[in-house]
Amino acid sequence: MHFDQKNFLADVERVLHAEYACDIKSAGKYELYNAVSRAVMEEVFEDWNREKTSERRRCGYFSAEFLMGRAIYSNLLNLGILDGVNAALSSVGEDLKQFEEVEDAALGNGGLGRLAACYLESAASKNIALDGYGIRYRYGLFRQTFVDGYQHEEGDDWLRWGDPWSVRIERDAVLVKFADQTVKAVPYDMPIFGYKNGVVNTLRLWQSEPVQAFDFASFNEMKGEVKATENFNATKITDVLYPNDNTMVGKILRLRQQYFMVSASLQDIVRKFKATGKSLKELPEKWCFQLNDTHPVIAIPELLRILQTEGLTFDEAFEVCAACFNFTNHTIMAEALEKWDALALSDLLPGVYEQILNCQRKLEADGLDPNVFYIVRDNVIHMANLAIFVSSHVNGVAEIHTNILKTQTFRNWYERFPEKFVNITNGITPRRWLLLNNPELARVIDGKIGTGWHTELSELKKLTPYLSEILSDFKRIKHENKEKLAAYIRTHEGVEVSPDFIFDVQVKRLHEYKRQMLNALSVLYFYFGIKDGSITDFPPTAFLFGAKAAPGYYMAKAIIKFINEIANLVNNDPDVHDKMKVVFMQNYNVSYAEKIVCAADISEQISMAGMEASGTGNMKFMLNGTVTLGTMDGANVEICEEAGRENNYIFGATVEEVAAVKKFYCPREQVEGDPRLKRALETLIDGTFPDEAGMLKKLYESMVGGYEPDRYLVLYDFADYVRVKEQLLRDYGSEEYFMKCLVNLANVGKFSADRSVTDYAKLIWHLA
Ligand SMILES: *Cc1c(COP(=O)(O)O)cnc(C)c1O
Repeated sequence: MHFDQKNFLADVERVLHAEYACDIKSAGKYELYNAVSRAVMEEVFEDWNREKTSERRRCGYFSAEFLMGRAIYSNLLNLGILDGVNAALSSVGEDLKQFEEVEDAALGNGGLGRLAACYLESAASKNIALDGYGIRYRYGLFRQTFVDGYQHEEGDDWLRWGDPWSVRIERDAVLVKFADQTVKAVPYDMPIFGYKNGVVNTLRLWQSEPVQAFDFASFNEMKGEVKATENFNATKITDVLYPNDNTMVGKILRLRQQYFMVSASLQDIVRKFKATGKSLKELPEKWCFQLNDTHPVIAIPELLRILQTEGLTFDEAFEVCAACFNFTNHTIMAEALEKWDALALSDLLPGVYEQILNCQRKLEADGLDPNVFYIVRDNVIHMANLAIFVSSHVNGVAEIHTNILKTQTFRNWYERFPEKFVNITNGITPRRWLLLNNPELARVIDGKIGTGWHTELSELKKLTPYLSEILSDFKRIKHENKEKLAAYIRTHEGVEVSPDFIFDVQVKRLHEYKRQMLNALSVLYFYFGIKDGSITDFPPTAFLFGAKAAPGYYMAKAIIKFINEIANLVNNDPDVHDKMKVVFMQNYNVSYAEKIVCAADISEQISMAGMEASGTGNMKFMLNGTVTLGTMDGANVEICEEAGRENNYIFGATVEEVAAVKKFYCPREQVEGDPRLKRALETLIDGTFPDEAGMLKKLYESMVGGYEPDRYLVLYDFADYVRVKEQLLRDYGSEEYFMKCLVNLANVGKFSADRSVTDYAKLIWHLA
């Protein structure tokens, strides 16, 4: 993008005059942020419109979540004007840094939503015609604070700073019909800028609104009670993101959201396709769709329905859908696989339900054994099965995960339709996750191998001969990043952490399967070891946690309370103050992640083997030169393949061992065999920590009592975890340790989202 400092400032002034009746001198942060953003938006119309009106075949990425994070820096970077804008602002006594207060667009929960965001950015950067379709939630993922160690949630008013990077497209509004109401869906389009290539794709987010303006007169007279309620409900559909990660909630409002977004998207796409004059049978020549997990799978019966109202037979419509749809599975956990009550769904969406039944009938007519293959059974609709039956491709998100899908979760489907199943290992965009968050390190790399790696991450391999040469720069930059993070933690968490400590980091959603408990128990284990003198040479370490718990997930909230109590104990004990610190960082989100992953010395990826489909946090740390302390799970397996198992710290039961152990597992034996583990675990019940609410007691029971104690083998893996963790803490700081970090950095290429979207484009979307 052509950039002229003077013209740019004049554009900013003009927006300030028109929109805020002020100038650069008198503008506040809010006005300046909006004016800078709008001034850029004015320049991108041509490139954006070229893509919007282009005739080429496209893929629609349907996702209930897009965890975009802060747009302004990423957009300026990709447009190649980050330094230019910064210089322009500096010339008038302003800077870009002040916009760090702008809200993150947190329209997603965690990995799945962040993946969608990375894929949109990478597709634009690789000139792949991928557009996102989702929901413009009024409130994104809640803001988290801790009060007395307990998680508190506040609404996320992400529009507080305005939304200058979106454009409302009233002319593309459509109506979405439910059995009990009809609402208007209005799209807001967000440009997705490719990295310095002039490509602009679109993220289209739908907002629900009443069909007519609310009729206050009739409401006051209480005449139109039914209609008034209808109008109130209309905006509710897109009010708030459900804060659950990896769990299905059977709420009808959630089903309304899902149908709302896919119906609006498909109506819009079909309407525009029809305008070209072609038969809808040819829709697959222009469009394909990627279903990001089961949340948008209701798109399948909806497109079947729409195509039949347009005159196609069921068989013709089915053929179109089979050619258009593809399905990504993100988890094997039973509690996350979506199932809907058939009666509830047929009440809300009778026309859609009819198509689901048609799919079940077709399945039987095709000769599939209904005891093995089913979409509707015992009045329950199995969304994953529907997706597999109709889609042309089904993909897992890491090799190990796809293998589990083929051999366990969907074994019968795989044996009947082997050609459908493919693996596409997840990836992350190296622009946001290295160029933007760690510019100093990026400059050092540029200096050695040039800038080709910005868009071809496997070129980082060229660093291999230079690793010793960049070692001292790497150490210096890591230390500077740790200083910055420590300063941020001081301000935001009120805890003093020395940048000379080892930064041992676990940041991700709070989930029992992710095993923050394993980490927490090891901290107590070390603490008591230092206290009783059995550990004498402990390297000073800061144990840093960040995680939101779903508000209704009791055990996850108990784990947060536990870790906060551990932090309170450790940080206030003068005996260990030069040895350890524990911090639970509040409100972990994309912007916090950017500060954390470049400042970490240890990346904790310690899920029970078989549970983490891929993980992408692991990739962010690796890209910033951090060793993984992890299990053989998800993409950790491929990280070891790429960078060498000997350059990471692997422990714990493998998938095969997990299956074998579970048959005879007795967690109490594990505890009895290890007095220091016992001491750590019993802090949950021995009065070490206040527990008026009985939360910690319940947490204790989940580990050693009840129907399936220690479901995720925390206690089973504990000894091996501590053994490997102690080795890592001993190795830290040595030449070999830092070389391991750099070998990881040099071999991270596979985990670029550029590679992932290129694989999708070749193997699934067939986009040139
Ligand atoms: C990357 C990311 C995640 C996913 O982390 P995992 O460790 O893969 O679970 C979740 N939340 C945020 C804010 C992220 O940036």
